[in-house]
Amino acid sequence: MDNLREIQGKMAHDPHCVFSYSRYRRQVWVPGPVIVGAGPSGLAAAACLKENGVPSVVLERSNCIASLWQLKTYDRLRLHLPKKFCELPLMPFPEDFPTYPTKQQFVEYLEVYAKRFRIEPVFEQSVESSEYDESVGMWRVKSVGMKGEEMEYVCRWLVVATGENAEAVVPKIKGMVEFCGEVKHTSEYKSGSVYKGKKVLVVGCGNSGMEVHVLPRDMLGKSTFGLSMWLLKWFPMRLVDRFLLIVSWLVLGNTAKCGLDRPVVGPLELKNLSGKTPVLDVGALAKIKKGDIKILPSIERIGHHGVQFVNGKIENFDAIILATGYKSNVPYWLKEKEMFSDKDGFPRRPFPNGWKGANGLYAVGFTKRGLLGASADAKRIAEDIGKCWKAEANHLVTITKRSFSLQP
Ligand SMILES: Cc1cc2nc3c(=O)[nH]c(=O)nc-3n(C[C@H](O)[C@H](O)[C@H](O)COP(=O)(O)OP(=O)(O)OC[C@H]3O[C@@H](n4cnc5c(N)ncnc54)[C@H](O)[C@@H]3O)c2cc1C
Repeated sequence: MDNLREIQGKMAHDPHCVFSYSRYRRQVWVPGPVIVGAGPSGLAAAACLKENGVPSVVLERSNCIASLWQLKTYDRLRLHLPKKFCELPLMPFPEDFPTYPTKQQFVEYLEVYAKRFRIEPVFEQSVESSEYDESVGMWRVKSVGMKGEEMEYVCRWLVVATGENAEAVVPKIKGMVEFCGEVKHTSEYKSGSVYKGKKVLVVGCGNSGMEVHVLPRDMLGKSTFGLSMWLLKWFPMRLVDRFLLIVSWLVLGNTAKCGLDRPVVGPLELKNLSGKTPVLDVGALAKIKKGDIKILPSIERIGHHGVQFVNGKIENFDAIILATGYKSNVPYWLKEKEMFSDKDGFPRRPFPNGWKGANGLYAVGFTKRGLLGASADAKRIAEDIGKCWKAEANHLVTITKRSFSLQP
């Protein structure tokens, strides 16, 4: 406690004071919240906090903002939802951007966003552990830099913004190590051009490879997502699902004929229950129908060149791309059991109630609702912390005034 008072005293004079804590770890007192992750969610939280007069420190393990978008996605990626559903709070997309901005345009937008709100993350700080220290009522956030240097950030509020897609999921498939060709996760895949003339097996039918329900990206001249949101205002989810499936059947035909069976539960209901996002088709289905993409069953085992499927068939491939998804990494570094589930690293309470935990802990971007959900979280968090921040500032002013009036 004395240690903390000493830090608070120093901080009153120098808000960026850093001082030695031990020979190996430096300690920083942060007056506002620490935000872990400089993706769209972390940036949105920092901007909204700034609007509420609250300074924050953003820690990012990589060397740039939005590292998922900049380093781990393929070249021709575009936002799959119209831009009005993907903008961060307080700053719309430029008008001359297309309805579905490219990845490069989205990154450009985020760079401008960070500059506009003067968000300067501390890069190359991988948070390895965070724990609430009851004795001082503060979070202790420990990070490691690229050269192994250790830091400890001490703060009252901790905002988790490490994303739903923090780590690649790489399944253990029997015999995979024997395969003589290239095996890559989609997070390393950039462009199909390097595979020209090669036979490639894409494992997984999720959004990186393809997914569960396949819907056209646009319906009746509107984005499928926008139309669904509008219909949900008037009709029950099951009815909207039925409508979506009828239009999809009219536009795309029977997807089961291509080997893509539809789940029994409708697309919106499935998203609501399990978070599984339907694929908004931009041409893959046409390629499947043409025979450029073949749908195969589950893998039994992988050999030197060939892959054996559960139906007994064996085919040879030059490369394997694992479109097997991502997972949250929160359970690896956050020492907390109530707000986040150990199983999947998501808040236990579903949207819209998963953003706030106990002891000044917050989550932004874990709603399974993409950027729209992250923006909603960021606004709520900033408002909540902002109230507390202002109340404390007023309290401090009152104390200062009193102590001045007591002086002779
Ligand atoms: C291929 C692809 C396409 C997508 N397209 C869309 C779309 O069109 N619309 C949409 O709404 N959503 C889309 N998404 C979902 C996407 O996850 C969100 O849009 C968005 O990136 C979420 O932002 P985030 O900040 O929550 O997470 P992220 O973008 O993943 O950012 C999290 C940041 O935290 C950092 N981090 C993680 N762990 C640590 C740690 N321990 N210490 C320090 N830093 C850490 C990461 O390096 C990263 O920079 C897409 C996802 C993928 C994979």
